[in-house]
Amino acid sequence: MTFSGIIVAAGSGSRAGGEKQWRALDGKPVLRWSAEALLGAGVDEVVVVVAPGAEARAAQALAGLTGWRAVAGGETRADSVRAGLAALTCGPDQPVLIHDAARPLLDRAVIDRLVAALDAADGALPALPVADSLRRGENGAMAGVVDRDGLWRAQTPQAFRRRTIEAAYAAWADPDAPTDEAVVVERHGGRVALVAGDPRLMKLTYPEDFAMAEALLSQPVRYQTRIGSGYDVHRWGPGGSVWLCGIEVPHDQTLIGHSDADAGLHALTDALLGAIAEGDIGDHFPPTDSKWKGASSDLFLIHAAELVAARGGRVVNVDVTLICERPKMKPHRQAMRERIAGLLSLPLDAVSVKATTTEGLGFTGRGEGLAAQAVATVEIPASA
Ligand code: MG
Repeated sequence: MTFSGIIVAAGSGSRAGGEKQWRALDGKPVLRWSAEALLGAGVDEVVVVVAPGAEARAAQALAGLTGWRAVAGGETRADSVRAGLAALTCGPDQPVLIHDAARPLLDRAVIDRLVAALDAADGALPALPVADSLRRGENGAMAGVVDRDGLWRAQTPQAFRRRTIEAAYAAWADPDAPTDEAVVVERHGGRVALVAGDPRLMKLTYPEDFAMAEALLSQPVRYQTRIGSGYDVHRWGPGGSVWLCGIEVPHDQTLIGHSDADAGLHALTDALLGAIAEGDIGDHFPPTDSKWKGASSDLFLIHAAELVAARGGRVVNVDVTLICERPKMKPHRQAMRERIAGLLSLPLDAVSVKATTTEGLGFTGRGEGLAAQAVATVEIPASA
């Protein structure tokens, strides 16, 4: 995994009572936490963007670390990010993680998820579902409820290939500065994936946030590992191709079902739901609902992954076995692994697809149907 990093530390941080990037958090300057996290994850280069004249201050905060350099930022965050991009030495296809210094508690797992997500998306950002119910307020009184369905809290780092973010910034014509890089890429027509964020990746905004972050540091999150299994069968019928693990495989038959009948993704969806005890695929997508007729099973898997993320959890690895005599799966297994890895924002070595026959025995052996089974491991925060 190769990637570059830009840490934006040019803000004045007035709400946190001064320039928070230089303040000590648990004995270390805030900026240093992010730099150490990126360097510890094997970043090729780190560009630290600071206010003009603050380069020496960065050198002091990052004393003893190598693999980084400081450049002067601009008026707005966007100007600073542009200055950081211009200072990179990497090639156009290199993933670049753009991070706010004000989010010091950056975990390696978040970095891995972001880089992996760029296999299937133009950009990626860590996000957490909104847990509190949301209200609109006017003159100190409640003025309605905001539906939180589909709302996520965006964190950083945000990840893009260098050429993607540079092209998107070059095309930005709005006189107003963008909120962040994900907005720039989305406006340029790019698809920005949401990957599981981390509650510890909180932004230091107000002075009291430092106490909260130090409390988090003293109590590392404990995760528990969950395992789920899934099993699915569909019947063979007349057709010219079959969907399996998100790939259309040419065949002289197809699987019959209400959706696209992708038994591999159905078993995998049930494995994820099983790991968090969220029922089964039929509970979430009833076959009686015409909405799901012919639906791509990608939707089912993504929904299950979002339920894991909503618990503050993440998928660790998945393993799918397809059981049939025909078609031969071997030529398609790599594409299936890549597809699932893209849908779940997982590295390829965490996704396995296997196939077996049943030596002509049983309904799979007689060619009446195809069976799929799947196992998934998931980590979710352990309840106290
Ligand atoms: Mg099914």
